[in-house]
Amino acid sequence: MHCVDVLVIGAGPSGSIVSALLNKQKLKVICVEKEKFPRFVIGESLLPNCMNILREAGFLKAVESYGFQYKNGAAFSWRDEYRYFDFCDKSSSGDGTTFQVQRAIFDEILINEAIKQGVEVNFNTAVEDIVFLDKYVEVHLSNNQTIKAKYIVDASGYGRVLPRKLGLEVQSSLSSKKAYFTHIQDNINEILYDRNKILITTHPEFRDVWFWLIPFSNGRCSIGVVGEESKLNINANDEDTLKHHVYLAPMLKRLLNNAS
Ligand SMILES: Cc1cc2nc3c(=O)[nH]c(=O)nc-3n(C[C@H](O)[C@H](O)[C@H](O)COP(=O)(O)OP(=O)(O)OC[C@H]3O[C@@H](n4cnc5c(N)ncnc54)[C@H](O)[C@@H]3O)c2cc1C
Repeated sequence: MHCVDVLVIGAGPSGSIVSALLNKQKLKVICVEKEKFPRFVIGESLLPNCMNILREAGFLKAVESYGFQYKNGAAFSWRDEYRYFDFCDKSSSGDGTTFQVQRAIFDEILINEAIKQGVEVNFNTAVEDIVFLDKYVEVHLSNNQTIKAKYIVDASGYGRVLPRKLGLEVQSSLSSKKAYFTHIQDNINEILYDRNKILITTHPEFRDVWFWLIPFSNGRCSIGVVGEESKLNINANDEDTLKHHVYLAPMLKRLLNNAS
């Protein structure tokens, strides 16, 4: 049986970073990822403190050299109103800028850096069961392999492997929300439009329905709407539903008039 100090479930940003940090501590780490990379994930606009974590893991140079969209703040709009915050306008020390990233590429860069540092990664392999024994855990994988680990780290994100296994899931007290999102060629040609900021827009009528517009460095952007299903459902397919809501927001309609 393969024996390790730590088995990490999932090779998203959490999994690749925790694997690299533990590997730096001279622990024997294996990271198990159920997908084949690159794979699509949502969550593309980083916060400046991510830079500290990427630096500590030894990933920052690789991320900086890819050419992701520079990000220095966030802008907010409602109807014709617009405000922005520059993350460098602050009184504390630390990074004030970061990136907006296509996660398929970003996550692959991170895990490849972890592999270069010596972390063993098994892609296309899901953690299927975990048996807790006295001094170690036995982790059963989809490729029929069993790994003996002193510790496990659950970095499975939306997979929530351990909470599901241990019955720790708690119903959120917030109302349930749905998101419709995609990547588009934005063709934004407004001279004053600031690609360096995420643009968060609230719906002209329903203030609890909101949109994100996250520009990338290649002329494309991520666009999405979030809200309660009852406010988003217009009995149309997903693409028409997203378009319908985006074009209700005057600033988004103007900016994305030529988008494809
Ligand atoms: C609509 C929406 C918008 C968002 N926007 C932003 C944003 O702008 N900025 C931001 O910072 N965050 C954003 N987020 C949050 C962001 O998506 C997550 O915080 C982030 O992806 C978490 O990374 P992670 O590494 O923890 O998990 P993930 O990226 O989810 O990675 C977990 C990995 O575990 C793997 N896995 C799951 N189950 C198993 C298993 N049984 N065995 C092996 N592997 C398994 C999965 O395949 C996956 O690769 C957004 C989230 C949503 C829903």
